[in-house]
Amino acid sequence: MTAHHGNGTLCVQAGYTPKIGEPRILPIIQSTTFKFDDIEQVNRVMTLQEFGFKYTRTGNPTVAGFESKLNALEGGVGAIATASGQAANLLAITNICRQGDHIVSASTLYGGTFSLFHTTLPKFGIETSFFDPEAPTAEIAKLFRPNTKALFGETIGNPGLNILDFAKLAALARRFDVPFIVDNTLASPVLCTPFKLGANVITHSASKYIDGHATSIGGAVIDGGNFNWADGKFPEFTEPDVSYNGVVYVKKFPQAPYLYKARAQFLRDFGGCLSPLNAFLFNLGLETLHLRMPRHSENALALAKFLKKHPRVNWVNYPGLNPVGKRRIAKYFSQPLGSGILTFGLKGDRKAIGRFAKNLKVAALVVHVGDARTSVLHPASSTHAQLNEEQLRAAGITPDLIRVSVGIEDVQDLTADFAQALAASK
Ligand SMILES: *Cc1c(COP(=O)(O)O)cnc(C)c1O
Repeated sequence: MTAHHGNGTLCVQAGYTPKIGEPRILPIIQSTTFKFDDIEQVNRVMTLQEFGFKYTRTGNPTVAGFESKLNALEGGVGAIATASGQAANLLAITNICRQGDHIVSASTLYGGTFSLFHTTLPKFGIETSFFDPEAPTAEIAKLFRPNTKALFGETIGNPGLNILDFAKLAALARRFDVPFIVDNTLASPVLCTPFKLGANVITHSASKYIDGHATSIGGAVIDGGNFNWADGKFPEFTEPDVSYNGVVYVKKFPQAPYLYKARAQFLRDFGGCLSPLNAFLFNLGLETLHLRMPRHSENALALAKFLKKHPRVNWVNYPGLNPVGKRRIAKYFSQPLGSGILTFGLKGDRKAIGRFAKNLKVAALVVHVGDARTSVLHPASSTHAQLNEEQLRAAGITPDLIRVSVGIEDVQDLTADFAQALAASK
């Protein structure tokens, strides 16, 4: 498969090309280890002189098939699969930053990522300044410091559902000479390919749309190969790595120092690797991603329109319905689709929200998004329960907010289910 193939062909076939007599399907290589013939070869592989599978923590053929397919879809120079989306974002930052460094991030983040940046990374000496992604350029620019090493945002904020102003943020990243890291989980490469919009590193929680069937936790980091790590601002890539006999990543791997360092160091030392079985399942998920994303999006748009007219609903937020979202989709997305997540405000108190959730029959109350099945969640009492009121507001979460991950069921069954549960919420 090459880049001239369409998304659908890449979804189905990229990443694995069987030879005669080999399985047509990407096989599960359920092995921790790989055989060598002589100690010289082991030495070459262990010292990064030669690439080869050695131990599944740092690479596995099934995992490589998944990495290669996702990389083809995003248009990068290579991907690293990780144990979860959280591990992917941890890798994305710690591959660049060390103690004393700083990052600048949109405040409209997935709850776990917000906690990682706000509370946990500071314990390791890495600080984050958060900004409102709709703030003017001059205001965001003030947050950059000499020790700032990255700019971070989510293509579609979770659960604010704001689409990033890529042009504004990519220009800021270029101006301050930092990589622009984009979590592309909720859009998926079927709707948006951030490398074309100025991103340098892309992260994913594969647990969502890539899996698509709520079977597995995993993630990935993709290197765009389009950032200059060699200008002296990033010692992680220009200083010798004593743990690999003094290798200097920008010299040894000039095409993709970020990617090679992540595999050699993060996977070896932090160990957040993906299992071969999960890679197999994610590969199956990717085979239908190009069919599922339009259906998720169409169902979500229809349900959003239904909710907007409903008397029990305070407000509805769906990127495909609001003017800014629509403009950004037209500008930045490859199709006029808004993905499958919507939020709405339910009239009434927490008890009313409880009655609504309890009465759903097709949709279910689940801490998850991106599944083929429709799920709902009340973030203020669940994923974002750790945040104080101010942080909740910055993340775009009100007490009445219900997040819906709209599945690929028949849409008339979804609207009927929501209609009866809304009636029961009174
Ligand atoms: C779910 C999610 C994550 C975390 O992924 P896990 O696989 O659950 O660890 C990160 N970012 C976004 C946007 C997510 O939706």
